[in-house]
Amino acid sequence: MPAELKGVTHLVIPGGESTAISLLLRSSELLKPVTDFAAGGGALFGTCAGMIILASEIMDGRPDQVALGAIDITVRRNGFGRQVNSFEADLRVDGVAGRPMTVAFIRAPVVTRVGPGVSVLASVTYEFPTGGTQEVPAICRSKNVLVSSFHPEVTGDDRLHKLFLESF
Ligand code: GLN
Repeated sequence: MPAELKGVTHLVIPGGESTAISLLLRSSELLKPVTDFAAGGGALFGTCAGMIILASEIMDGRPDQVALGAIDITVRRNGFGRQVNSFEADLRVDGVAGRPMTVAFIRAPVVTRVGPGVSVLASVTYEFPTGGTQEVPAICRSKNVLVSSFHPEVTGDDRLHKLFLESF
């Protein structure tokens, strides 16, 4: 509920389905409060569908879906392929010490452009079902926004959430 945003310092927009989250942001009257939260420098962490919501530009999206523009990146929705092309990968993450993180890309978006002021904390090398192997950004950050194209929570490793709480 919009009133529940009062006093919130760190907001996570989770994975799921970005078109459904768009509809819910509108129907719950959260679109303006969350847009204002981002514009006011509130800390945001978007994972998978949440990354799509926070991006400035969406390729292969629905024309009416929300791109909050909280972080200057372009993403291609479902860019790694279909649901059956979902995969796990071990990623080295800038700012996360110790062993690589094992994370799950579940019908994830592909970052196709990173704007000025955005840094890439981790990348993934992927053999696309349509052909060709590429290294693409998997975690990006700006001053107040962290985004990951994967789900960091389903493999039981909370180090990225810790990074979000400790450095934003
Ligand atoms: N494919 C979904 C979308 O477009 C994202 C999938 C996910 O969050 N696991 O929103």
